Amino acid sequence: MYVEELVVDGAFGEGGGQILRTSVAVAAVMQRPLRVFNIRAKRRPPGLRPQHLTAVKAVAQLSNASVSGLAVGSTEIRFYPSRVRGGRFEFDAGTAGSTTLILQSLMPVMAFADSGVEALIRGGTNNPLAPPLEYLENVVLPVLAKMGAVFKVRLHRRGFYPRGQGVISAHSSPVKVLNPINLTGRPKVRRVTGMAYSCRLPEHITERMAKAAEKMLRERGYDAEISREALQPNNPRCSPDPGTGIILYAWAGDLALGVDKLGEKGVPAEKVAEEAVKSILEEIDAEAPVDSHLGDQLVVWTALAEGVSEYETTRLTTHTTTAIEVCRRLTGAEFEVEGNLGGRARIKCRGVGHRNRYLE
Ligand code: ATP
Repeated sequence: MYVEELVVDGAFGEGGGQILRTSVAVAAVMQRPLRVFNIRAKRRPPGLRPQHLTAVKAVAQLSNASVSGLAVGSTEIRFYPSRVRGGRFEFDAGTAGSTTLILQSLMPVMAFADSGVEALIRGGTNNPLAPPLEYLENVVLPVLAKMGAVFKVRLHRRGFYPRGQGVISAHSSPVKVLNPINLTGRPKVRRVTGMAYSCRLPEHITERMAKAAEKMLRERGYDAEISREALQPNNPRCSPDPGTGIILYAWAGDLALGVDKLGEKGVPAEKVAEEAVKSILEEIDAEAPVDSHLGDQLVVWTALAEGVSEYETTRLTTHTTTAIEVCRRLTGAEFEVEGNLGGRARIKCRGVGHRNRYLE
């Protein structure tokens, strides 16, 4: 049978890696051949970086795809997926490439595999401009579980820039069809939790970070409890390179909004805490249940789900509008967006109700 090729212009909208990752994931799930050109046209340097290369290779391995154009710097790939088989897989993001962004593109494919998948990924675990695994665990996975996609994740070792060498794993059970989600209206946030973490640094850094964040949050009337994790080289979970950061969750009912900040050399721990607190307060004050990052990460799931999903996000980003356009074109899902870029928005999606053909 002839199946028409999906074609995606990677220069569209945000013009970054997310278009590629979303496209290969959708193509693998829907078993459609795909061509992506102008890959990361709005980034310098454009084309595939090692992290994107590993993401495509990982999705290809899971979906037994043949792929052309797989090289660092390549601006065009062709992707021909086949049966998505469960099993145990290992991927390497190369040095400190983001493990969670690779997992992000794998997750829809894992959900629609013919059986459970166990994926172990090596690389960076705490990268700028990528979700920490704890964010996936506390913010993203509870929402996906409500849609029927159940994942378990584990951080085996942190990996910071430049050498990475962190290890995460994720386990999935296959899903027949995804339920729609309704996340509109938000219970009042009273509690903020989180963690200040570090590897190979003096303990006072996480202590000062956590204390400063707790103080600022309590002054604003929130119950605040931040855990401290200062790993030293004798701990097998410790990264080979030093690093630190803070992650905060604002709890609204059983779901959370999340933010994180990485520490930087020369920036005092208190300042890192202050920036994280400022970001979480902005998310809380926008009075929507879906934070600005989850806003883009939910798009592919609502497009594949059955029925009408609806959610309010604290800030409409170009990542979100780009993901919507890509998913609309690739899946045929219908989206309506109320709100403007940079502001609070309501997203409605009539998903295509994709069915896991292997579980029929
Ligand atoms: P680029 O092509 O810009 O190098 P990339 O492949 O690194 O891109 P993006 O296209 O920018 O990635 O996509 C980043 C993804 O990571 C988005 O889904 C975004 O929501 C998510 N993300 C980034 N920072 C965070 C964060 N701090 N917390 C949660 N999610 C985040």
